[in-house]
Amino acid sequence: MPAGVVKRVLLASPRGYCAGVERAVETVERALQLYGPPVYVRRQIVHNAHVVRDLEERGAIFVADECDAPEGATLVLSAHGVAPSVYANAAARRLNTIDATCPLVTKVHVQARRYAADGATIVLIGHEGHEEVVGTTGEAPDAIVLVQSVEEAEALELAEDEPVAYITQTTLSVDETAEIVAALRRRFPHIRAPQSEDICYATSNRQRAVKRLLGEVDLLLVIGSANSSNSNRLVEVAAAGGIDAHLIEDETEIDEDWLDGPETVGLTSGASAPEVLVTRVCDWFRSRGVTEIEPFGSAYEDVAFKLPVELRRAESPAV
Ligand code: SF4
Repeated sequence: MPAGVVKRVLLASPRGYCAGVERAVETVERALQLYGPPVYVRRQIVHNAHVVRDLEERGAIFVADECDAPEGATLVLSAHGVAPSVYANAAARRLNTIDATCPLVTKVHVQARRYAADGATIVLIGHEGHEEVVGTTGEAPDAIVLVQSVEEAEALELAEDEPVAYITQTTLSVDETAEIVAALRRRFPHIRAPQSEDICYATSNRQRAVKRLLGEVDLLLVIGSANSSNSNRLVEVAAAGGIDAHLIEDETEIDEDWLDGPETVGLTSGASAPEVLVTRVCDWFRSRGVTEIEPFGSAYEDVAFKLPVELRRAESPAV
């Protein structure tokens, strides 16, 4: 069956796994090798249903809460970071805790603690309920105020002379966040800002790659799970640029009706989506007669993080 009139598929670059996700997934894999199953994982290690299913098949047990892991068990904390209370609960249950929080999330936690120690009110730009936001807020719950939009930034009520700082979730829209920050700076000219952007390199690079692609494609497919923040932002970037975009878990979610018209389809994947899913979608197009499947863009990423220290120590006690 032909895929509508699609002639070409362009693959955004960079796309897919970031260094934080690589590290988190490898952490669970290495913990399974080292300790044997079951290894407990608090929440989804990364926001991708395929990754979670694959690790479950290999012996990982995903739990909603650290208190759901049996006393003394091995527990991996997800890439999104946790509130300090989680470490305390895990210690009280004598869990062998391995912290796979992405170092770029940890950096935001450290900022939150510093600003709070300085007595500042901290505006956290992010999405309510997202695990990263819950974890970061836990660092200084009395000092942090969540802001999700320009409107909320405009409506924020703080005393004029109150020390104030902002931090952000790492996986936000670069453009929307810039607008919110601009509104905060207008309202509070003395607001303190992080030394380097909190939105991480992987989020920014994937959004930039999609923007470059938009002039070339009639439709964008984004591989990622519905709860993946950075994947959803890629769909929004395309929509803001006037291109139809759909978030798909894998090739089984492609609706043939979407392909009735577009000649060139862009394909990208969120930071938690494994490359094998891109290969599967490409094969799906090939099986429908599309022969031109080409990379587009050339951004090179060489970020890599060391595995969590708990794991390195267990593997090599000299660490
Ligand atoms: Fe870390 Fe960014 Fe990847 Fe999140 S998306 S795990 S912050 S590198």
